Amino acid sequence: MSTTEQRVAVVTGAARGIGAATAVRLAAEGRAVAVIDLDEAACKDTVEKITAAGGRAIAVGADVSDEAQVEAAVARVAEELGAPVILVNNAGVLRDNLLFKMSVSDWDTVMNVHLRGSFLMTRACQKHMVDAGFGRIVNLSSSSALGNRGQVNYSAAKAGLQGFTKTLAKELGKFGITANSVAPGFIATEMTKATAERVGMGFEDFKAVAATQIPVQRVGEPEDIANAIAFFTGDAAGFVSGQVLYVAGGPLD
Ligand code: NAP
Repeated sequence: MSTTEQRVAVVTGAARGIGAATAVRLAAEGRAVAVIDLDEAACKDTVEKITAAGGRAIAVGADVSDEAQVEAAVARVAEELGAPVILVNNAGVLRDNLLFKMSVSDWDTVMNVHLRGSFLMTRACQKHMVDAGFGRIVNLSSSSALGNRGQVNYSAAKAGLQGFTKTLAKELGKFGITANSVAPGFIATEMTKATAERVGMGFEDFKAVAATQIPVQRVGEPEDIANAIAFFTGDAAGFVSGQVLYVAGGPLD
């Protein structure tokens, strides 16, 4: 690839939240961006933000846990935008419950979206990265990887993504591909808003209580995570691979 050619990035779960902020940020870095989410129509706002600022983006509807949909989505990105060489595996869901109340379906859904989804997306994109001799993969882990009550499924998936990341770094490094993981703490999005509702708290109160436990005394915003992802996906980060960066406003126990 010539250095003047625009690199193509894929961001999953990019209709809203951290994914949307990341798509907008990567476009501002000069990337053409495929905005992938379950519902193609829901990606419209993110795409419009990018194109209104003079960037290139397309909306692609796909369930990352479905092999055929992932293959079709990545083929469409390659056809319409160019070979994807930057991948951010961000799509995610919560199905929180204490172990004794957790259904098999809630376990499977979380494993399928986070782990199977990241595997399928990465497998589909890596051939384009190998051909280009360049690639950047970022997997969204979480502070919950260290253990969190009520999230035995989610914490297992997010810890699994850290092992996935390190193995990708070892397997793919020789092709100019790096893989890193960003592990957010509390970020204000629809995901944490839904958790506030589940525990019967208003979102503002929920955030205020969370902020008291965070050394910088505030909760994170999606842009805080997009900033870290922009670093890992940049050309200058070629010697940083297999790392997990906790972005949580302080160290974690
Ligand atoms: P969010 O606001 O809930 O957004 C997640 C997006 O992913 C939604 O648009 C959702 O679509 C989409 N999605 C869900 N399942 C999908 C699938 N199978 N295929 C494609 N898209 C799918 O979440 P967020 O807070 O931005 O979180 C983004 C990532 O960061 C997740 O991996 C999450 O686990 C991680 N994270 C978040 C926090 C936090 O505090 N917010 C902390 C640590 C880690 P629908 O709306 O249609 O379901």
